[in-house]
Amino acid sequence: RGRLSEYAINRIYPTVQGEGRMAGTAMTIVRLQSCPVACLWCDTPESWALPEPWQAAAVVAAQVAGLPPRWALVTGGEPCWHALGMLTVELQARGMKTALETSGVYRITGSWDWVTISPKPDGRLPLIEHNLYCADEVKWIVGRQRDLERLEAFLLATSALRPPGRRAISIQPVSTQAKATALCLEAVMRHPEWRLSLQTHKLIGIA
Ligand code: SF4
Repeated sequence: RGRLSEYAINRIYPTVQGEGRMAGTAMTIVRLQSCPVACLWCDTPESWALPEPWQAAAVVAAQVAGLPPRWALVTGGEPCWHALGMLTVELQARGMKTALETSGVYRITGSWDWVTISPKPDGRLPLIEHNLYCADEVKWIVGRQRDLERLEAFLLATSALRPPGRRAISIQPVSTQAKATALCLEAVMRHPEWRLSLQTHKLIGIA
């Protein structure tokens, strides 16, 4: 697993978050390298391998804090493969809010203002269910009807692990596919407590 205060960086860039409950918020994406989860439909396979050199937490945080957004979104790859404590300390010391997007297959470390867990039921590693205690949002990717049935079963099985007030469910059609979008629209009608999450950054052609 990762190092204590250095990080393998894929890319750092400012953008407007396109999906999930934080959509529309200016955020600087800190995309970390490495992901052993190996989802079939991964849209960032370039983030799987580990590059050199690694960058110190303070160097990463200074770069992020120098950009306009006041939120840093740490993602991957699978960011929790890294030990994230020092990175979040350095970011928050510079006045940044910290958001995490993870598949939840490693224990979440660090200090977070917002946590999104996007479980990958077909991935190689199982979800650590106790991570759900600190999830502000569960984002579920939907490609076919079976994915919605799996979500219903997942929510039933994990309701005790998701504290009241931290039960936001976002369902997101895989790769903005039309058939998946239609499934999600029907599902939100049946479950008005869920929210439709669209990858609006893809719809408007930004990263
Ligand atoms: Fe790709 Fe994310 Fe799955 Fe890793 S967890 S393989 S980065 S979709």
